[in-house]
Amino acid sequence: MKTKFIFITGGVVSSLGKGITTASIGMLLKSHKYRIDVLKFDPYLNVDPGTMSPYQHGEVFVTEDGAETDLDLGHYERYLNQNMSNKNNVTQGQIYEHVLYKERYGEYLGKTVQVIPHITSEIKSAIYSLARGKDIVIAEIGGTVGDIESLPFLEAIRQVRLDVGRDNVVYIHISLLPYIKAAEEIKTKPTQHSVMKLREIGIEPDILICRVEKNVDKSIKEKLSLFCNVEPEDVVIEPDVGSCVYKVPLILKEQNLDKIILQKLKLRQRKVDITEWSRLVEKYEKLTDTIKIGVAGKYTQLKDAYKSILEALFHAGIHNDVKVDIRYIDVEQKNFEVQLKDVKGLIVPGGFGERGVEGKIQAIKYARENKIPFLGICLGMQTAVIEFARNICGLKDANSTEFDTKTSHPVIDLMESQKMVKYKGGTMRLGAYLCRIKKGTLAYKVYQATKIYERHRHRYEVNNKYITLLQKHGLVISGTHPVGNLVEIVELKDHPFFIAVQFHPEFKSRFLNPHPLFYHLVKVAKEKV
Ligand code: GLN
Repeated sequence: MKTKFIFITGGVVSSLGKGITTASIGMLLKSHKYRIDVLKFDPYLNVDPGTMSPYQHGEVFVTEDGAETDLDLGHYERYLNQNMSNKNNVTQGQIYEHVLYKERYGEYLGKTVQVIPHITSEIKSAIYSLARGKDIVIAEIGGTVGDIESLPFLEAIRQVRLDVGRDNVVYIHISLLPYIKAAEEIKTKPTQHSVMKLREIGIEPDILICRVEKNVDKSIKEKLSLFCNVEPEDVVIEPDVGSCVYKVPLILKEQNLDKIILQKLKLRQRKVDITEWSRLVEKYEKLTDTIKIGVAGKYTQLKDAYKSILEALFHAGIHNDVKVDIRYIDVEQKNFEVQLKDVKGLIVPGGFGERGVEGKIQAIKYARENKIPFLGICLGMQTAVIEFARNICGLKDANSTEFDTKTSHPVIDLMESQKMVKYKGGTMRLGAYLCRIKKGTLAYKVYQATKIYERHRHRYEVNNKYITLLQKHGLVISGTHPVGNLVEIVELKDHPFFIAVQFHPEFKSRFLNPHPLFYHLVKVAKEKV
């Protein structure tokens, strides 16, 4: 079968949840038993988001093969229940990097290298390179139609229809219908303008997905149909869903979006079974019990910074029959007896830089002493080990900052493999590595396995010189990576649940399959209530 392509653009404003809508479309089409791949184009010039602050970009999502990618890939993995790779996120920076590299190597000798056709061809190659073995490739163009940066991408996807034929491409435009309070009206004009912009470039959207606050009257569909030149039934309304974003595919399906797309692509509809998904969504809506879990990080103002952790807690909650109520713990405040008072579990997430490290150490001390279920992630594990070294092993000057490896007790040290590294981008220990789990430990109880693969993103590690001392004082090292005996999981006995991991389990949690660490954290926290 010839691969089909779906292109998704955004209009009017950003933050419309385009990633979730794209992921939902992927999930629905996959339920028709088509082989799907999803591609996110990011129009910025960074080669990847790895060097950007979470304030700029939100979380950096790490794939199995160690690519640092846009957080939308997290949505794709969670909705499609399928791993993404470095091929699924392409930035404009990467496109230019390739083109300039080729230019230096003489691949364009004699030619003037230009945005059209050279940059656009490179963009198209990224799309086509995903096609092998897939029935449908969905590509989401980051940014909003009208941005200067996204123009080459739009030009490229326009050309794809010429390359592969009309019936093999669908263009979907996701836009906003704002509600104007004073007039008590939903406005379609911004969407009309956005579609006009697309048509100027030569793209006629086949389907409109309109984001609205609340559901709207059917007449809006007719109006949009008339002004935007799409059939009324090809206008899909996507109202805000509140706290359960996993409802989006169901809303889209109610309006037959899957069938509409398949018809346009001349693909057969197949028997669909999404009962488990719907069951979980319905279950969530009926949940009455909530449980407070603290997340002690430094990006407390910005939900996107901890996206996968929040999703993992959400999954763990549903499967434990509770709603998880996230309480952000400000690690710079340090009044933990107040902040952690009614919290039933604590997560100390990963992070970079010195700010907040001392606060994290103190928050962990509080959780350890007060028997609050605790899960430390990456920097969260490193700070847990420092806390233990200082307060249990008596190494008062165990290093306090991640950079301070020159103290007399560098319990956390720069990894050997990182010592020679001169460049910042893409050079950490990244992606999935094997971790061996010791039987009889909490980690084993959680994972029920002796070999697991989890995703990493770090430069520092537990200094092996301190392992014997830490163990002598009761720190259990329950997971290690065989090469170099790297510490991957530590835990404590005599505590209801105290476990910390060098990797990022949050990246592997799925709506249908919650991650066991988050699942058990919520389970134990719930039992404690
Ligand atoms: N900054 C720490 C390191 O590089 C932790 C990284 C993280 O939490 N992802 O090892």
